[in-house]
Amino acid sequence: MARTVLISGASIAGCAAAWWLGRNGFDVTVIEKASEFRDGGQNVDVRGEGRKVLRLMGLEDAALAHGTGEKGIAWVDENDDVVAKIITEKLGTDGPTAEMEILRGDLSRLLYEPARARAAFRFGETIRSVAPTAHGVSVRFKSGAEEEYDILLVAEGVGSSTRELVFSGQNSPRWMDMTMAYFTIPRVTGDDQLWRWFNAPGCRSVSIRPDMHGTMRANLSLHRRHGDKADWDPSQQKAWLRDEFRDAGWRTPRVLDAMETTQDFYLDVLRQVRMPRWSQGRVVLLGDAAWCVTPLGGVGATLAISGAYVLAGELVTNSDVEGAFQKYEAVMRPFVRKAQGIPKIVPRLVHPRTRTGIAVLHGILRVMAAPSLQKVSGGLFAGNAEAIDLPQYSALTR
Ligand SMILES: Cc1cc2nc3c(=O)[nH]c(=O)nc-3n(C[C@H](O)[C@H](O)[C@H](O)COP(=O)(O)OP(=O)(O)OC[C@H]3O[C@@H](n4cnc5c(N)ncnc54)[C@H](O)[C@@H]3O)c2cc1C
Repeated sequence: MARTVLISGASIAGCAAAWWLGRNGFDVTVIEKASEFRDGGQNVDVRGEGRKVLRLMGLEDAALAHGTGEKGIAWVDENDDVVAKIITEKLGTDGPTAEMEILRGDLSRLLYEPARARAAFRFGETIRSVAPTAHGVSVRFKSGAEEEYDILLVAEGVGSSTRELVFSGQNSPRWMDMTMAYFTIPRVTGDDQLWRWFNAPGCRSVSIRPDMHGTMRANLSLHRRHGDKADWDPSQQKAWLRDEFRDAGWRTPRVLDAMETTQDFYLDVLRQVRMPRWSQGRVVLLGDAAWCVTPLGGVGATLAISGAYVLAGELVTNSDVEGAFQKYEAVMRPFVRKAQGIPKIVPRLVHPRTRTGIAVLHGILRVMAAPSLQKVSGGLFAGNAEAIDLPQYSALTR
């Protein structure tokens, strides 16, 4: 009889796992907290091993075709004059802008559509309690339903509540002292295909990036000690950002105005998820719920896609479920450890407090963006997507 799998969370990790497991004879149900599929979010890059997995899924070309069209990054001053610029095509490899630069929602949908043919999706549902049974888990849902599954796969992202239910108190988050807000704003004359990044005094940055939907994606970032802002109401979060960025200069007024009416405002207080183990009995964590590295690591989507492939590969290859979880963790841990190793000083260095600090940063960026150094500098931004070689699972891909 097919093993039954409940996946909680229908984003990149959850949909990729549903794709692989559904294709390989598992009976897969996916639940998602949101009342419908979530399309929002800004750029994520898929690099190195993550791209290889998309290739195996036959989705690499589609992901490239759905790319944002971003050509590179330009650091600008208050007058919008370019201080330093790195164009990806000239690097011949991934830089701050990867070759596969795609919106989170677009990538997630690319995975969701084919996964739908292989798994049952239920929206507006969450898990209330989980109890081990002789051969799996018994799950009680918000809707009141109670069901049994052989495996529970938790892919609920950084703030996963099921992780806290099952692995209570085990996460030791590493706060990165950064708060970031992302949202879509209208495109106007003069917007181009570059990611324009502006630093303002007070450890603030504002950036605007192109997408392939005729709009632009804005980001407001602050280097601050963490607080409880992720739990605030969006209207409270926006009021706080308005206040913090009121005098930032450059194109900030346009961004703040558009923030009021945007449909996909998303604010995150950056923290890494640090779990001593990723499974307990028949429950296993995947993606940001297991190991969130934050956007500072640049490989969140790559890890989510790679992790789904490895977990499915081990489950297909091993009849012992808990043994498969151990092997999945053994493969993915070194990859995650490298990605999480980003020093906390990095967000501080790229968000100077004073005008003098910004002038120093611009001087460094000018040197890094010099044609003779671009290849080396580009590599510094490219993250750890090639940090390991993923195993080949012939039983999975045949
Ligand atoms: C709306 C949104 C916008 C994002 N925007 C960006 C961005 O602009 N840039 C960037 O680098 N990263 C962004 N991310 C994070 C990025 O998607 C992840 O870092 C990475 O791709 C790993 O994906 P994941 O599937 O593990 O987690 P996530 O993408 O965070 O997905 C988790 C999913 O689980 C669902 N969920 C949460 N709690 C529960 C629950 N209790 N029960 C059921 N479902 C639950 C969420 O609604 C979501 O669909 C965003 C995530 C979301 C959800």
